[in-house]
Amino acid sequence: MGIPRLPLLHQSDFIILFTVKCFFINMTAKPRLDNFKVDHHETLHTSYKAKMEWWKNETDVEKRRCKVCWLRSHQCYCDVLQQKRSKYEAWDPRPNINVCIYYNPIEIARTANTAHSLEATCPWICSNIVYGDLANETALLDDIEAEYRENRPQTCIMFPSKDAKLLSEWMGARPAAHSDKPIRLVMLDGTFPGASRQAKYLMNCCAVRGIPAPLVKLDLEGDACKSAVAGVMYQPGKDKICTYQAIVMAMEQAKIDPLFCRSLHQDLEDWIGYILRTKVKLGKSKPRNSMKNEMDVTPTAFIAEALSVSVN
Ligand SMILES: [Zn+2]
Repeated sequence: MGIPRLPLLHQSDFIILFTVKCFFINMTAKPRLDNFKVDHHETLHTSYKAKMEWWKNETDVEKRRCKVCWLRSHQCYCDVLQQKRSKYEAWDPRPNINVCIYYNPIEIARTANTAHSLEATCPWICSNIVYGDLANETALLDDIEAEYRENRPQTCIMFPSKDAKLLSEWMGARPAAHSDKPIRLVMLDGTFPGASRQAKYLMNCCAVRGIPAPLVKLDLEGDACKSAVAGVMYQPGKDKICTYQAIVMAMEQAKIDPLFCRSLHQDLEDWIGYILRTKVKLGKSKPRNSMKNEMDVTPTAFIAEALSVSVN
């Protein structure tokens, strides 16, 4: 019996060996994640830094807009916001909820942004993070991970993906020992593609940590929900509503004081009326061609009325 011959390797065997080798090289070359930080693309770092430097360093006069209400200085809405804030300061009992507004950098200082006015009227229930602010994003994700590992879910991310639970279902599944603790709603604030990127980022970070992303969505009750800004701004789809409206609907579905929620809805209506009357926005009552037969852009009676009334 001679020496056993090694089997001849075929081309396909080399491909398998090469793939296995690459796999091990990749495994060993993969850098260790530092405290689960998942860094952003460089273009986001650049746009985030540029926007925040502009926002922090330029004066209101240079920016030509008010730091609080984000409208042009001559259209400042702060007097009204201050009156509303006084009303909510005296509200008893205070609503048991936290709202974390997760701004896309392009939303900072946009006149048409709705969410930030809640920060001006009810700052004690609000916090904010800007997409690209790695330190605060990581702190938020650390909280989400700790809540998951300790089975005390308090934070949820509002994003209507197919994996998202209804907010009411997510709340109903919380352990009884924690069910009376305030929930924190993370509200993505950006254009629809921008908000999708923000959601994807949080989902990827959760996946790296080996935990499920706590995604929730609103119950829009079929087609019953109508955008509060229809007739003022274009919305990309019939189930897309502005962030402020989504926040208030989420509070309603989280069973927060109905009178408080109704008052916040009224605030949005007041703001819409103001920006139309002062011609910050001129109204968009005709649908884009791409939206024809799909979108109902009919303004509500009060928006139609505001569009026909001029203050100046
Ligand atoms: Zn102002």
